[in-house]
Amino acid sequence: MSRGKTKLAMIPTIETIPLQQLASGDHLSLQLYKFIGSRSGKKVYIQSNLHGGELTGNAVIHRLMEWLTTLESDRLMGEIWLVPVCNPVGVNIRSHHYASGRFDPYSGHNWNRIFWEYEEKFSEIKAFAQSQLALDPQTIQANFRQRIQAAFLALKPTIDSAAGVPFHEKYRYLLQSLCLDADYVLDLHTSSDRGITYVYYFPNRQESAALLQLEAGILLDEYDGEAFDEAFIKPWLALEEAFGELEKPIRFDVEAYTLELGAGMQIDSEAVDRGISGIQTYLITQGILDLPNFPCSAYPPMRFSPRSKARRYYAPRGGIVQWRVPLGTTVQAGDDLYQLLIFNKAEKLPGVQTVQADRSGQVFDVAISQAVSEGEYVLGVLED
Ligand SMILES: [Zn+2]
Repeated sequence: MSRGKTKLAMIPTIETIPLQQLASGDHLSLQLYKFIGSRSGKKVYIQSNLHGGELTGNAVIHRLMEWLTTLESDRLMGEIWLVPVCNPVGVNIRSHHYASGRFDPYSGHNWNRIFWEYEEKFSEIKAFAQSQLALDPQTIQANFRQRIQAAFLALKPTIDSAAGVPFHEKYRYLLQSLCLDADYVLDLHTSSDRGITYVYYFPNRQESAALLQLEAGILLDEYDGEAFDEAFIKPWLALEEAFGELEKPIRFDVEAYTLELGAGMQIDSEAVDRGISGIQTYLITQGILDLPNFPCSAYPPMRFSPRSKARRYYAPRGGIVQWRVPLGTTVQAGDDLYQLLIFNKAEKLPGVQTVQADRSGQVFDVAISQAVSEGEYVLGVLED
């Protein structure tokens, strides 16, 4: 064994995890890459491609792996677990040249609205908080995590039972078993269409969200329910609220983010650059990686808005979007947003209709298809 000064670069342990046997007899699997530091610390869990058509996060994870393998293991305090292409079912779905992979074609579920949520009455969470008032935040965090994990493990007998469970329940159990004990969770998505880069974040986490240095941050003041990030963090937010009511405010060191990295169905190279650089800055500033001299990126500061101010525009009539403002444009109320070319079956010449912004903001997402039936999505504006 060498006693020289040469230190070894990190090599991840790689585990292939069986996921599903298909009717044809073939098997789908997940692959987990674990980077384990030689110093103890927090656990970070990062996955990509939960929606099958959202590819950019895979390239970000690959860049992250390449970078981590150049570092010595004493630079990493704790563990980083990576799961690219985390939804093989969704990733392989195609309809002609188009890959959506947003919904499970078997059950209709949106793949990011299937996750198990720890459910406990707020009064019980508050009673738990009451019982922990004399303890330090780290001990409380460990105690509460045990409660969540006990409830999660109680699902296992049903999953393993002879009757079985629907695939999405098995799948979510597997993914959540990898991240439930993490401190920080990053779920890498993209637009289904064409979008800017932004991150969804939760209350009291704007400062950490800003480390990700994307173009915008959207505070989740409205929830979808059963999304991956929500399922992870909601119990902690409830516990924070309980301590707040008991006049002992605590912000637990637990975070979850959904990163939206540009366009769907392609590797958006600009979004890859932003994604990797933001994650590097996040990992260093959060004390996961000890790299004091690493040049952190210097993108312009993020703009922040609550989700309730992300306004989606839907076509007032059926037609073809023959013009629209470019993605990223800042518009004022009254500015033209898009123009519909409308055909008819009334023995008349085709007409056009222009739709104006009713509030000011930035165009943060635009639909890929420029053919729209009445009520279909055209674009989104993030209000100031
Ligand atoms: Zn997605």
